[in-house]
Amino acid sequence: MRKPLGIVRVALLVASFLSSQVAAELVQLDQQDDAITKAFYLINETNTTVNSTANGDFDQNGTLTSYFLGKVSDWWKFVDYRGTKVSVIDMHLHTGTWDDLPQSFQDDLLEQIPFPFNFPILAEPFVNILLSAYGIAAQLVCSRIQKGVLFAVYAPETTGLAENEFVQDQINSLPNKFYGLASLPVNDWEKNEADALDLLRQFLVLPEFIGVKMAHPHMKINFNDATFYSIYGVAAEIGKPVYIHTGLAFTEGSLTNKEASHPDFTEEFIQLYPDVTFIVGHYGNKAIFDGLADPFDASFRLATTYSNVYLEASALGSEPNDPDGSLLTGVYQKAKELGLIERMLYGSDGPQFPGYVQSYLERTLDAMERADYTVEEAELVLDKNFKYLFKVW
Ligand SMILES: [Zn+2]
Repeated sequence: MRKPLGIVRVALLVASFLSSQVAAELVQLDQQDDAITKAFYLINETNTTVNSTANGDFDQNGTLTSYFLGKVSDWWKFVDYRGTKVSVIDMHLHTGTWDDLPQSFQDDLLEQIPFPFNFPILAEPFVNILLSAYGIAAQLVCSRIQKGVLFAVYAPETTGLAENEFVQDQINSLPNKFYGLASLPVNDWEKNEADALDLLRQFLVLPEFIGVKMAHPHMKINFNDATFYSIYGVAAEIGKPVYIHTGLAFTEGSLTNKEASHPDFTEEFIQLYPDVTFIVGHYGNKAIFDGLADPFDASFRLATTYSNVYLEASALGSEPNDPDGSLLTGVYQKAKELGLIERMLYGSDGPQFPGYVQSYLERTLDAMERADYTVEEAELVLDKNFKYLFKVW
């Protein structure tokens, strides 16, 4: 029954898209009460996310129903890890709009988006939904992830722009689903430093913004450039953690030098701001330079040496970067060996590519099983460490 029905639906969808009605509707989704329903519809119909779940026991057609069932029960809020319900927070998600993505990133996305949404005219509304709070919430529910953290980004030339105010609107458009990390523009720093720090401060004091996001190579600055350390001063002043992207940047125009990529170059500010917790993101993935330690080892060394360092293993375990899952498994094994499980946070770095949020969680659960994590240890990584660090419940 399912397959023919699916074909009919897709045919109807294509027909309606050809008449542009759905496209027009998608464009107007903002602020509508049933937007999350439509996001589900979109995700289901394009078969981008929901073939299986971490549990494998709710199917593509069941998802929308499951969401509404979820309103009266809570079973969708948990993944099954070794027979026990575990809640998950994805602390690394990117919101935004098509218009705010640089051309090179739009081109990458077009290759990943399923037909018929990969036509430029449809890609725009599709991506706007995919990256909106509604679209991300739909993907979280499909993946059985309870909550997510949306990142502000100020890297207009490389990965794009998601301003604090935009992130705030997204967080507030759905109750109790998201937190945010605030950021700031770093262009013409000499001239703009005071204003940029004020902007950061203005958002960082809000309860929905639980920390700062920095992506040095995408923002085209070096870790060890002390002129930017005042940013960590603001984090210290307000008492919130700072997420640091480490690792080789792949987006066009980003810095690829060691000072902007290798975790070792974060050490000076980690020492200078002992009251600020720094989350070393991506474990310095692929930042391999002559004369410097393996970036994974360097990340573990920082966490072992400094009590104000947490680690987050997003992106490095993706299908293209880690086809057999051995990198991610190695990271979880090593963290366990070194007694660092309590410093590990879970993040995916989605949802720009359809289906990624869910598959990254599945790959992580597999890696933790292979690294022989107990249920309690998995709970720390997926949920409890986050709540402890960011003081949210
Ligand atoms: Zn990211």
